[in-house]
Amino acid sequence: MPTLKEAPAEATIVSHQLMLRAGLVTQTTAGIYSWLPLGLRTLTKVAKIISEEQEAIGANQVLLSTVQPAKLWLASGRYNSYGEEMLRFKDRRDHELLYGPTNEEQVTDIFQRFVKSYRQLPQNLFQIQWKFRDEIRPRFGVMRGREFLMKDGYSFDIDKAGAERTYQAVFGSYLKTFRRMGLTPIPVRADSGAIGGDMSHEFQILAETGESLLYYDAVLDNSEQTKHEDLTSIYAVAEEKYDPRTCPVPEQRLRQSRGIEVGHVFYFGTKYTKSMGVSVMGPEGTPIYPEMGSYGIGVSRLVGAIIESSHDKNGIIWPESVAPFHVGLVNFQEEDISCKEIAETLYGRLCAANISVLYDDRPERPGVKLANMDLIGLPWQIWVGPQKAAQGKIELKKRSTGRVQEHTSESLMNFFQPL
Ligand code: ATP
Ligand code: MG
Repeated sequence: MPTLKEAPAEATIVSHQLMLRAGLVTQTTAGIYSWLPLGLRTLTKVAKIISEEQEAIGANQVLLSTVQPAKLWLASGRYNSYGEEMLRFKDRRDHELLYGPTNEEQVTDIFQRFVKSYRQLPQNLFQIQWKFRDEIRPRFGVMRGREFLMKDGYSFDIDKAGAERTYQAVFGSYLKTFRRMGLTPIPVRADSGAIGGDMSHEFQILAETGESLLYYDAVLDNSEQTKHEDLTSIYAVAEEKYDPRTCPVPEQRLRQSRGIEVGHVFYFGTKYTKSMGVSVMGPEGTPIYPEMGSYGIGVSRLVGAIIESSHDKNGIIWPESVAPFHVGLVNFQEEDISCKEIAETLYGRLCAANISVLYDDRPERPGVKLANMDLIGLPWQIWVGPQKAAQGKIELKKRSTGRVQEHTSESLMNFFQPL
């Protein structure tokens, strides 16, 4: 847990500063980060919530290779159009390879090997895998990295109606996913709006430091009560698409805010299946091109976005669902035998009750330990100090409210493990 007192000068937004100060990540080189123990624990929890919500709609998890042969992209016609964001290289046999910036071609190729008939549809596959995009301006830490973790999903349906049902299912799963992380997602229409054309929504989290400027209906500020079918159509657009002359929302209900894109759902029909010549046997005995969609979530970007939306001047305030540990246990006086005994007994009991505890037993001053605990933002802090210990008491602080309550060891265990 290599915490820093001051944020390094290169970090200009609060989530980047806090991620470095709390020792979640460390920069390898521009736009490329290594994840340290605390950061990895949160990244893993974010990924787990995403996987659970994907599995809940019947998607199956896979793990595609990060390296792909250029020939797949030559087949779809994107090899030349993708441009300089793609990291390309050759192996010792002079074969052209690339580090995947996305995986539509690869997943379509795999699909073709195993799916031969409409009876095997629909298929919905997702993975959580590292991507490389040589972004022109990597910045804001993990928010716009060159190497970043993405959940990417790909669906294959027999017809357009099926593809729309899948789109709606993924849309709903994304709302749930972001809400479980304590976020309020704003679904923003990103397609052309043409009938029969593509359909696409971006999921944005409101934050002053977001890269997009959004115009949206104020109803979306409390979208939790709104049905998800309505959320696909309530007005929300990015700056480029906003036109005051055609905006359907009355002025007093129109909101303007910056946003961070944390997810993107995209229906694009037969674009890849046709260009790559991937068909299955249809119900009429003639081949059909499956209708596809792809769906992305910025897994590593989410860690930054969650911090951007949940912090105070002292540090991060993790929502419980993604906190690296549930509880931070601080012993103020390592040399005090009774403090040590209380702290160690509690540590053992909490662990046995399956509550994740970070035990700060470093020989640091209490002030340093408390500042570090606030900085790393665990939901609960347990303080063990000599004065209270003499009365058989310990203190419990809730990070989000700052409220401190006195407890005995027993009442504390009941608090965390009410059964
Ligand atoms: P952006 O407009 O931010 O570049 P994109 O449209 O290129 O995003 P997609 O290809 O839809 O992004 O990727 C899916 C998700 O991956 C995005 O919604 C975003 O959350 C995340 N993402 C994209 N690029 C990056 C990046 N450079 N660093 C971190 N996360 C990213
Ligand atoms: Mg991009």
